[in-house]
Amino acid sequence: MMLFDTHAHYDDDRFGENRDALLASMPSQGVGYITNVGTDLETSLTTLELTRRFDFVYGAVGFHPHQAKDMTNESLDRIVAMLSESKIRALGEIGLDYHYDLSERNIQREAFARQLDIASQLDMPVIIHEREACKDVMDILRASKVGRGVVHCSGGSRETARELLDMGFHISFTGVITFSNAKRAYEVVPYIPSDRIMAETDCPYLTPVPFRGKTNHSGYLKYTVEKMAEMRGVSFEEMADITTRNAKLFYGID
Ligand SMILES: [Zn+2]
Ligand SMILES: [Zn+2]
Repeated sequence: MMLFDTHAHYDDDRFGENRDALLASMPSQGVGYITNVGTDLETSLTTLELTRRFDFVYGAVGFHPHQAKDMTNESLDRIVAMLSESKIRALGEIGLDYHYDLSERNIQREAFARQLDIASQLDMPVIIHEREACKDVMDILRASKVGRGVVHCSGGSRETARELLDMGFHISFTGVITFSNAKRAYEVVPYIPSDRIMAETDCPYLTPVPFRGKTNHSGYLKYTVEKMAEMRGVSFEEMADITTRNAKLFYGID
């Protein structure tokens, strides 16, 4: 069974000259599908290029809350144009991040709402980033018409997960669930219905134990899937099967 890394940033400079060789090695490391996620115009263009060069790479394009301040009408138009490319399967990542506050909060909220609007008009799923902004993310989602998407829920509560599930969203988990302080994950991971759960690396960030501290890549996804299996009391094979099947349906891959 091939794993599906539903959220990766291979455009990141940290991969440097090793990027192509590393990506090319993924099928032999048990990873059959990857969604590369853009965070601004430049990384979205790189995402598109990666989807053209690697069979097993799909893409999402959009403005991350950190880069919301750089979103202009012109750059947003170019993102929208990319959404009609055949291997671009979602709008994202979008959302709110009040931890770093790299864009002003009102600018983040405006960029988030505007991109949700585009996704609902085009009937595209969204990839949502939320950090220390749960209340505002939920308020903006409730006000939008978007009913298809996935949320990084590494720190979210069971109540938030419940509401997102009721709105039609999927929840995806990163290597954070392997950290010794991830107590809440023991409540949330088993709570997600088996048709709504996905797995991701968010590489080069959030490297799972036992490689925490090193640069993350899709080859380490198995440690996160293993932890999910343990938390849910199923085998690794079953967890791999469930997460890959959900991701293929979510991203519209046969
Ligand atoms: Zn994120
Ligand atoms: Zn990300």
